[in-house]
Amino acid sequence: MQSFQQYIDGTFDAGSAQFESLDPATGAPWALMPEAKSADVDRAVEAAHRAFLSPEWAGMTASARGKLLYRLADLIAENAQALAEIETRDTGKIIRETRAQIAYVAEYYRYYAGLADKIEGAHLPIDKPDMEVWLRREPIGVVAAIVPWNSQLFLSAVKIGPALAAGCTVVLKASEDGPAPMLEFAKIFDQAGFPKGVLNIVTGFGAECGAVLTRHPKVAHVAFTGGPETARQIIRNSAENLASTSLELGGKSPFIVFDDADLDSAANAQVSGIFAATGQSCVAGSRLLVQNGVKDAFLARLKAKAEACIIGPPDDMGTEIGPLCTARQRAHAQELIARSLDQGATLVTGGTVPDRAGYYFPPTILDCTHAREADCITQEFFGPVLSVVGFDTEDEAIALANDTAFGLASGVFTQNLTRAHRMIRAIRAGIVWVNTYRAVSPMAPFGGHGMSGHGREGGLAAALDYTTVKTVWLRTSDDPIPDPFVMR
Ligand code: NAD
Repeated sequence: MQSFQQYIDGTFDAGSAQFESLDPATGAPWALMPEAKSADVDRAVEAAHRAFLSPEWAGMTASARGKLLYRLADLIAENAQALAEIETRDTGKIIRETRAQIAYVAEYYRYYAGLADKIEGAHLPIDKPDMEVWLRREPIGVVAAIVPWNSQLFLSAVKIGPALAAGCTVVLKASEDGPAPMLEFAKIFDQAGFPKGVLNIVTGFGAECGAVLTRHPKVAHVAFTGGPETARQIIRNSAENLASTSLELGGKSPFIVFDDADLDSAANAQVSGIFAATGQSCVAGSRLLVQNGVKDAFLARLKAKAEACIIGPPDDMGTEIGPLCTARQRAHAQELIARSLDQGATLVTGGTVPDRAGYYFPPTILDCTHAREADCITQEFFGPVLSVVGFDTEDEAIALANDTAFGLASGVFTQNLTRAHRMIRAIRAGIVWVNTYRAVSPMAPFGGHGMSGHGREGGLAAALDYTTVKTVWLRTSDDPIPDPFVMR
């Protein structure tokens, strides 16, 4: 079995304890991971705090920080193949996706590298003649970054990149499910030349490692991606240190197809919107709302594509649907489907676990037109399951789209320009994709509201989340300050 190491204060070690990581394609243990306990987490935060105050990091110019981030981006690009292979091995995410995604992760670091020396303060036109007042944007401090198993290199890049660009230091907790890519990334980060302690990577379980990290008195900001229930625990923990939080949570994103849409194009977008990453994607377009006039034709296309998907080992370039990351995730999908069928949903295709080792689950479609309250309409699967509702009018589509506690992403397929604009205004979600789906870029803010969380990742605004404003007052008069106790 391979062994991985945690990364604290610029050194690697096996951690206080270890746990086995299971290969999602077989269900068998394949590697030993360090399990960070309280003492490890404390050591990591102390190292990050020392680095934050150190002359090597605090005294470094923003441009020099940017150069280090460029170097890191180059190293990621050079090692993209190895990183992709390890992520595929430990999480089951298919190799054709990990290869493409990790190549793009390097671009995220390049974007933040360029941003490092563009985080500007401001000068205020203050209402006092003998004062100069300006604002300094300073790094907020030690950042606790927490990611789930899916796309960890990507989800960590949108935290580590802006945090380091702003001059913060970071303790990143990898997911206990499939942490290998982050521990491999630590080796690459170590070569980039950052001062020790600037980034620390630990892995462990939420109840100990995650809780100790998020309530640590020396943590100033928690950047979290994961589920809403964990987010609640993090907010409770941050009541201890009063850290600020940015929360990227789940979704039940509507994918709306009007009867004038290009159905072939929309079908391709819907298939990638729900079945890419085996459905383990926060922005999965998991609620298809389709106008009744084209519902049968559209579902026929989706059914044919779902049934033609090649399910196979994640490391095979021919595979289109790999295993889910964990047995727990597969059991959740099975339970949610069973409940939804009891509640009146009907199965269009899929739903049955294939008879093979590993956590495989087939592309599944449930028609909920006559079961609009079914659990599969309201709850996140985080698996390759699409729930469908037919609608007649635009108003009905808007009402259905917004009938959710989440508010992350949405997609609208129509050829009607004015309707597209009305939908953009009416949908309550952090992202609206029109005649496209799943497009992302380092320049574009990403995030949601409601049960999908708060804060944005990507873009300039995300870097500002890692700063705090210092207001500076400077008196320009040479006259002595008058005695305040002498009345005039
Ligand atoms: P999760 O919330 O169970 O776990 C996420 C991370 O939080 C893990 O590293 C876990 O160890 C840690 N954690 C657990 N308990 C903790 C605690 N008490 N304190 C601190 N950390 C703790 O999520 P998951 O099931 O692993 O991931 C799936 C969820 O993530 C889905 O809801 C999905 O939509 C969401 N997600 C959101 C985005 C986004 O950008 N909006 C992206 C990917 C995934």
